[in-house]
Amino acid sequence: MKKIFFLLLPTVLFSVQQSFAQKPDPAATEVWQPEPKVVTPPDGIQPPSDAIVLFDGKNLSEWVSVEDNSPAQWVVNNGVFVVKKGTGNIQTKKSFTDYQLHLEWQIPSKITGTGQGRGNSGLFLASTGKGDSGYEIQILDCFENKTYVNGQTGSVYKQAIPLANACRKPGEWQTYDVIWTAPRFNDGGDLLSPARVTLIHNGIILQNNTILKGGTVYVGQPAYKKHGPSPIKLQAHGDASEPISFRNIWVREL
Ligand code: MG
Repeated sequence: MKKIFFLLLPTVLFSVQQSFAQKPDPAATEVWQPEPKVVTPPDGIQPPSDAIVLFDGKNLSEWVSVEDNSPAQWVVNNGVFVVKKGTGNIQTKKSFTDYQLHLEWQIPSKITGTGQGRGNSGLFLASTGKGDSGYEIQILDCFENKTYVNGQTGSVYKQAIPLANACRKPGEWQTYDVIWTAPRFNDGGDLLSPARVTLIHNGIILQNNTILKGGTVYVGQPAYKKHGPSPIKLQAHGDASEPISFRNIWVREL
């Protein structure tokens, strides 16, 4: 009996190891080292004359709920709007291909939480469906807040580590300036050219014409799926911290 057990032991151990290996583990795709250097940023800018203004401080008339296309329910107050988490992600009514985007965001001064649970939102450069589908540039409080570096502020989430950490302190306004080149597909859905993104955060370049591997995923590897012109989306992340604010959003089609 004992002999049979020892003969079977390698098989038992192998199947235990396999069942562990097959469990989807978000931590498996987290990278923590080396950390981007901290750079101190300058001030932001105003819309150019040819920009399509997506938020001018008055209302969310350019935005809808991703879930059901109803008017966006996030809260406009004093020239800014605040994420209303329970109402889900919002996206632009208009669709875009290649563009330059300017957006300003603010982490609440009394932010709580750690890692990914501290002021998490996100800028999806092309919204390719409901939920978090698309290509996410991470928005997060990474001012003296550690997380996996391919998920920190200005990362292409779980694809591209930012070249620097240019975060201002919570309570201060921050700018994102983005140059987005959408991916191209043939009629059959094959990828002709991948998406590319340049991101400047508070005047500091974080992504330099970065080539994307596909749509953002939380678990597993990114992949491309054919799409055309798409809305720009903002994330109502489910973390427990205070919701963040946005202002002064404009886009120039290229
Ligand atoms: Mg996010």
